[in-house]
Amino acid sequence: MHKSIENDLNQFDELLTTVKDKGIAYLNALSERPTSSTHQVTEHINLPEEGPGTLKALEHFLQRFEPLMVASSGPRFWGFVTGGTTPAAIVGDWLTSIYDQNTQTTKGDGDVSATIEQETIQLLLELLQLPKDYLGGFVSGATMSNFTCLAVARQWVGHQLGKDFARDGITETIPVVSATPHSSSIKSLAMLGLGSKNIIHINTKNGNREAMDMEHLESTIQNLQGQPFILISSAGTVNTVDFDDFSAIAKLKEKHQFWWHIDAAFGGFAACSPSYKGLLMDWHQADSITLDGHKWLNVPYESGAFLIKEKHQLLQVASFQNSNAPYLGDPMESFNYLNLLPENSRRLKALPVWFSLVSYGREGYQSIVENCITLAKEFGQAIEENERFELLAPVRLNTVCFCLKNQARTASFLSSLNATGKVFMTPTTYQGKAAIRAAFVNYRTTKKDITSTLKLMEETCR
Ligand SMILES: *Cc1c(COP(=O)(O)O)cnc(C)c1O
Repeated sequence: MHKSIENDLNQFDELLTTVKDKGIAYLNALSERPTSSTHQVTEHINLPEEGPGTLKALEHFLQRFEPLMVASSGPRFWGFVTGGTTPAAIVGDWLTSIYDQNTQTTKGDGDVSATIEQETIQLLLELLQLPKDYLGGFVSGATMSNFTCLAVARQWVGHQLGKDFARDGITETIPVVSATPHSSSIKSLAMLGLGSKNIIHINTKNGNREAMDMEHLESTIQNLQGQPFILISSAGTVNTVDFDDFSAIAKLKEKHQFWWHIDAAFGGFAACSPSYKGLLMDWHQADSITLDGHKWLNVPYESGAFLIKEKHQLLQVASFQNSNAPYLGDPMESFNYLNLLPENSRRLKALPVWFSLVSYGREGYQSIVENCITLAKEFGQAIEENERFELLAPVRLNTVCFCLKNQARTASFLSSLNATGKVFMTPTTYQGKAAIRAAFVNYRTTKKDITSTLKLMEETCR
């Protein structure tokens, strides 16, 4: 064994204790830590010949990179849709590395990791009050979940046409219908050979909405004249968190043949709140659902989950099987995640989610979700009442979309605000206007963060 590795093994206790102490110092100061940094790494090192061991590498890291880390898991990082990390999730994440399991099969050589993954999916279904007829698994995020779901959708369309696209390649244009798809769904269409431009766009509802107009959807379906197609619907659009009308879609599904996908990356967690779960009425009839763990579930990156109706399992296996590897077993005989999703070897991605769900339960997540919604509404109301700002859409859930009344100043205002390092929001365009999004997804955020940010915004405007 190389002497640096041997040395490390002999002082493993000290190593991990040091990391724990540094980690706690970081997390305890997270609220005061800047949300942006102007420093840049300009010089790079070469690969050492004789590695000095981990304590030296840690010193090096702490000196060069640590000061540049921004508080993206802190209470005032409202850019994108950025969740924090619960203590239980961090524990689960550490253990994932320590046990270092390759999560594939439930029937392997005593491998319990896929069993943990399946149990975690069951807990997630319970949290979201979804039926147990979904087969679920973990991937790196909602992008890969959309990819996984749409791959099976593609196979389903082929099956309706008597074709096996996974085996023979795609031979025709598959109609994909959507109103306000997330960019990652469009990216998935590109990766799947379905074509990012092949979307039949449905109008949005009248009156400042991003949800699809159901009459237009129905007439579009009529025009398809019975061709099987894929419907990508939204449980939470990114700009204004609008939800498609799932009850109406479920009714259409009784009459027409289509694969129904819901991108519920963060909006699916509205199901945790009795007051908001109505937004998801009848979503349990969708063929596939995308969820993100590293957003509202507040577990570390990379955590996304797909839910696909179990009745489609053969199509799922057809899409992801390792068909020329007899040593991996017959995909039809034994359950193995490597025949059900894009990756083969995977870390035990479910464990941080398992820890967080078991540690905080239904009530814990209800409180996280409702706290975020309450804060978003308060922030939105303050924006609405402030003469300098314009609220661009009602706050439907946990995101506030707004701009400066003085449009020309919106971009420079946001740059100055973000440069303070005290809060972080992201730019967007909404209905042709330069806009700003603030998304509330972190369990650490409090009313004090709202008050201090509003004050800071006033000062930045002046
Ligand atoms: C964030 C998001 C995605 C992409 O998720 P990643 O975790 O970044 O891959 C997809 N859909 C929606 C609605 C999202 O909010």
